[in-house]
Amino acid sequence: MPRSLEPESWGRSIVQTACPLDCPDSCSLQVTIEQGRIVKIDGGDANPSTRDFICAKVRTFTDRVYGEDRLLYPAVRKGAKGQGVFTRVSWDEALDRIAERMVEIRDRWGAEAILPYSYGGSNGLLTQDTNDAALFRGFGTSRLARTLCAAPTGAANQALYGKMAGVTYQDYVHARLIVLWGVNPAASGIHLVPFLKEARQAGATLVVIDPRSTTLARQADIHLAPRTGTDLPLALAIHNHLFERGLAATRFLAEHTNGADQLRARAAEWPIARAAEVAGIDPSLLGRVAELYANTSPALVRCGWGLERNRNGGSAAAAILALPAVGGKFGVRGGGFSMSNSTAWGIKAAMWADTPEPPTRLVNMNHLGRALLEYTDPPVQMLFVYNCNPLVTVPDQNRVLRGLERNDLFTVVSEQVFTDTCRYADVLLPATTFLENYDIAKGYGPISLQLVRPVIEPVGEARPNPEVFSDLAARLGLTEPEQETDTLLRVVGRIPERVGSELLEKGLATPPHGGAPVQFVDVFPLTPDQKVDLFPDALAAQAPAGLYGYQPDPGTDRHPLALISPASEKTISSTLGELRQRAGTLQMHPADAAARGLSHEDPVRVFNDLGEVHCPLAVTRDIRPGTVCLSKGLWRKSTYNGSTGTALVPDSLTDLGGGACFNDARVEVALLGRH
Ligand code: SF4
Repeated sequence: MPRSLEPESWGRSIVQTACPLDCPDSCSLQVTIEQGRIVKIDGGDANPSTRDFICAKVRTFTDRVYGEDRLLYPAVRKGAKGQGVFTRVSWDEALDRIAERMVEIRDRWGAEAILPYSYGGSNGLLTQDTNDAALFRGFGTSRLARTLCAAPTGAANQALYGKMAGVTYQDYVHARLIVLWGVNPAASGIHLVPFLKEARQAGATLVVIDPRSTTLARQADIHLAPRTGTDLPLALAIHNHLFERGLAATRFLAEHTNGADQLRARAAEWPIARAAEVAGIDPSLLGRVAELYANTSPALVRCGWGLERNRNGGSAAAAILALPAVGGKFGVRGGGFSMSNSTAWGIKAAMWADTPEPPTRLVNMNHLGRALLEYTDPPVQMLFVYNCNPLVTVPDQNRVLRGLERNDLFTVVSEQVFTDTCRYADVLLPATTFLENYDIAKGYGPISLQLVRPVIEPVGEARPNPEVFSDLAARLGLTEPEQETDTLLRVVGRIPERVGSELLEKGLATPPHGGAPVQFVDVFPLTPDQKVDLFPDALAAQAPAGLYGYQPDPGTDRHPLALISPASEKTISSTLGELRQRAGTLQMHPADAAARGLSHEDPVRVFNDLGEVHCPLAVTRDIRPGTVCLSKGLWRKSTYNGSTGTALVPDSLTDLGGGACFNDARVEVALLGRH
């Protein structure tokens, strides 16, 4: 047999693409295809920060692409809501049905009775905020405030620095002190881990601030494990230490900042001892961190998203981001802060949005249950879900569930696999994965911009978002239908020419400042006066206790335990949750377990006034006393009773940015069956 026809080489190709999923790293990928099927997904070498390796989640992404839960064709509901019985229909029939219903609703209740609902399930620049935005804006539907994650940190970063680009992974090796605050890169953003290792080998001191004893926390020189929601007092105590000991960078503050005196006044309320007591940590350790921070350069604070998920989250993020200004840590490679670098390219969806945003009702996505059940002016009559699985990701799950169960609510879900939310749909639309469509992946850890290429034909009848939304818009007389490639070219044509042409020609654009800007050398605050605003009026007016004002713990005698829900190594938010085989476990410290007569692997009920979750218990010293932990992104099948952690989360909002207070869930835990 000629070599070219040998089975192992016949029809084999390797395609370079990129991962657009909601993860900071934005890996380059190398995907091997045989006879039209993906046989291997590996790291590519185009993005230097991701260094040829990828996470296990995407390495096994074919389990989603070809898995039994994949949606293969459009379908409409046959049985009762929640029953999960659907009948196959054609794309034309499905889209006609949706368009007809949209018109009916607009004519009877007004277009604001339609609520589009999306988040980062398909996080590229084409699969959201392109033709979907044109459709919903053009039709005049309600608008969605996408505040599930990163809203408080984003608000703080915007107000203090105008979202100045931060220190990127490759510069960590230059830092002599690294503070990982509310972030666990081993689970989300794994490519930072080898850079941390190199930095430590080069002599950097590592401080981890996390209520859990993660692998990185165990390796750290200092681990602070505060009560959830107390990052704000900790950061203010470090500020106070800097100001009161004469360690603040007075010249930098005078030349490059506004509002230092107001920040100093708020920080003065938090001596080390008081902050440590509120946070439940050793004051001498906090004092050491403050001294280390004052006396080390380059010093780098990696501000994560774990610290924002509570009532004080926005002020905490602002106080943490303010540290390098007060400590004088800018101006050297490896010094300053890292946050999201998503704005480093200066590329915004507004560049390709031809339809202006109308002044229609703005619905905070964290209030979905409330919106479905309580909004009356007009009531929500259609929910259009895409890139999102709200039944398991949004606070107050039981309220969301009651909303989705409404018989008079018409729900459309565009999805890759049959999620928990799909079960409540009236019309299901099969969506492509990033391995079947074009997209543009923008990293928010490394500064990278890459072309995502389809590596296989769409599975079943799945279609890419831009085509589905433009087809629907055409049915409604709003725009002409547009092929996905035309949308791609239109978007690329609106971004700076050098960037766009490199993206199309090479698949990767050259990042500004070599992808590694030095703060206050290469990049400066994008505030109106290019200064750091340490006490922005807009934030001060927004925060219920004023900016940097601490709101006490919401725990009660009945529900004293803080429930946190960090990212896991198995899912990206809830994406890939269908593949979890085992039940999610509740982690609890041995002292808390003993106080309740609970043992390792006991079935337990975790409960508060909003709901209860039944799952097995893991007794472990990996979590601090008084705090329990259940992973983010569990699907309903991953607990004994079909409720997940979000059933215990109030839909209250963070002090800044309208974010979700996932870590303000306060619960009690008992043996299942004991009431
Ligand atoms: S999820 Fe993150 S680590 Fe995994 S392949 Fe995508 S970008 Fe890389």
